[in-house]
Formats: sequence, structure tokens, C-alpha cells
Amino acid sequence: MKMIPDVVVAGELFADLILSGFSEWPQPGKEIFAKEFRREIGGGTAITACGLAKLGSRVAAFGIVGNEWGDWVREELTRRKVATEWIEFDGNEPTAFTVIATTPQDRAFLTYCGANRGFEPSLKKALKENRFAQVRHIHLAYPPAIETAMELFEQLHRNGSTLSLDVGWREEWIKGRRVLELLRQVDFFFPNEVEARHLTGQDQPQQILGVFRSAGLKRVALKLGARGAALLWDDEMHFVEAHQVRAVDTTGAGDCFDAGFLHGWLSGKTPLTCLYMASICGALSTTEYGGIAGFPAPAHLNHELQKLNLCAK
Ligand code: ADP
Repeated sequence: MKMIPDVVVAGELFADLILSGFSEWPQPGKEIFAKEFRREIGGGTAITACGLAKLGSRVAAFGIVGNEWGDWVREELTRRKVATEWIEFDGNEPTAFTVIATTPQDRAFLTYCGANRGFEPSLKKALKENRFAQVRHIHLAYPPAIETAMELFEQLHRNGSTLSLDVGWREEWIKGRRVLELLRQVDFFFPNEVEARHLTGQDQPQQILGVFRSAGLKRVALKLGARGAALLWDDEMHFVEAHQVRAVDTTGAGDCFDAGFLHGWLSGKTPLTCLYMASICGALSTTEYGGIAGFPAPAHLNHELQKLNLCAK
């Protein structure tokens, strides 16, 4: 029998092809050679799902992989204890991939959407077929199409699950009042500072959360990079400073933050403890390259929480 996960992380799946060690930055019409190459699973869906699994949540990923790198993505997720039975397969497209050229000063990304193009219709079909029945929580790690987002959220709620959303930087999701109306339908919203500033027209965390509250949003965990994080939880507001770390790469910090927060909430923690868990997971993820390697094991997270007189258990 299929395990029923506590949480499904749904969104786009990627293979990241990372080239580094260039002697100069790529210029049009010129070929340059990388000294190193590595391949990693990428994107918010994989990073948040792996973080949740590492902390001990029962988590399944929902997305689509393709004929190229599809088995490898599934194996990598399985190895990290993320259930992959719901991941679909597109035989006509490769798994979406990003070629990342990285130097100590800068990075460039070239992405092919591949199998991800079919993601949203597949999600809607899965919901119609009631495939996620009994799943407690669904985290959308991608920006749904605005025009049909309301219908999608209603469908998700009919499923009986609570719902969280991290849209990332997507023009249509950070402009316009209609977006706030849509965001009222989600139980947790996870914007970063730039997204939240655009959405609210405010600069300061307290004012940003104030606008969200006036617009009727219930719970917003606001990511503030090296400045820390803030939380609107019903009528309460909390602010925490960044956990002190030596950051080497902030890729995926926001997705790790989401994982720490959701794991705290699924385990019944107080809002403030959830925020600390999120902030510690986000901070520690920056101490290693990529979004997955630096994510803390439960003992490490607990140790950091104990230093703050909080407990992860
Ligand atoms: P995103 O990756 O979505 O842009 P952020 O960069 O705001 O999100 O990072 C998410 C969270 O990770 C922050 O709210 C903070 O808690 C933590 N974090 C990010 N960068 C650092 C850093 N340099 N030092 C400490 N914590 C950090």
C-alpha cells in the first residue's frame, strides 16, 4: 500500500548542470571551457521536499520528469527519503534542466522547461482524481497561472488539505491587487523581501506585514536574507534576526526556510519556534554550495534551537 505523506510538495523539477572554474566570463561568439562539472537536482520543489524529508516529515514530491535525467531525478529524491510515486513521466520531452555557469563573481542560467510544461494540467488532473486525499498539507513551490489560480486553490482546499505557496519572482504574481485576493486563499505564503516589497509597496518588514494583514492574508513568513525573517500569524507579528553563519552560497535558502517552517508547523510547534526553525534552516543552507547539502539534520537543528532555549521535539 502507498504511504500517505503528511505533505506533498508540488512544482517544477529540474536537473541543474553546473559548470565552474572558467578563466573568463562567457562572451557572445566565444567558447570558454569549464574546469569542473557537477549535476544536482534543482528547483524549489526538490529542495523543499528534501529538507522536509531530512527533518523527518513524510513527504512526497509531485511533478513531471522526462526521458532525459528523469530516472536520475527520481533516484536522487528517493535517496533523500522523498516519496516519488506521484512523479509523472513525459516520454516526449527531457526533464527540465538549467545550465549554470558560475564564477566567484557571477552566475548565468540557461533553462529549458521540457517536461515541466505539462505540470499544471497534471496537477489539476491529479486533484480531480482525488489522488491527494488524506494528505494533510500541500506546498506549491511554483507560481500557478494567475487566471486559474482561484479555481486551483479551491480544488486543493476541497481535497481537505491546508495549502502553502512560494511563487518566487514571477512578474504576474508580484503586481496588482488581484494577487492579494488570491493570496487570501492560502494558509501560508512565503515571499522573500523583494517580492513582498513589490506586492505591498512597503519597505519595512512591519509595514509589509501590516499591508498583508489589512488585505486579509492569514499567515505570511517573510524572508529577509541576511537581515533575518518575520512572521504574520493571524494577528501576531514576530521578527527574528538572521542566524549567524558564514554564507558561501545563498542558492535555495528560501526553499530551505520553507521546509524548516513547514516541518515545525506539521509537528505542532508555536509560530515563533516555526520561524526560528525556518531561519536556522535557511541560514545553514547558505554554508554549503547548492540548496541541499547545507540543510541541517534534526540533531543539528535541535542543537541550534537549544542555544535559543527552544526545542525542536
Ligand atoms: P530567497 O532565497 O527566497 O530569496 P532569502 O535570501 O531571504 O530567500 O533567504 C531565506 C532565509 O534564509 C532568510 O530569511 C534567512 O532566514 C536565511 N538566510 C539567507 N541568507 C542568509 C545569510 N547570509 N545569513 C543568515 N541567514 C540567511
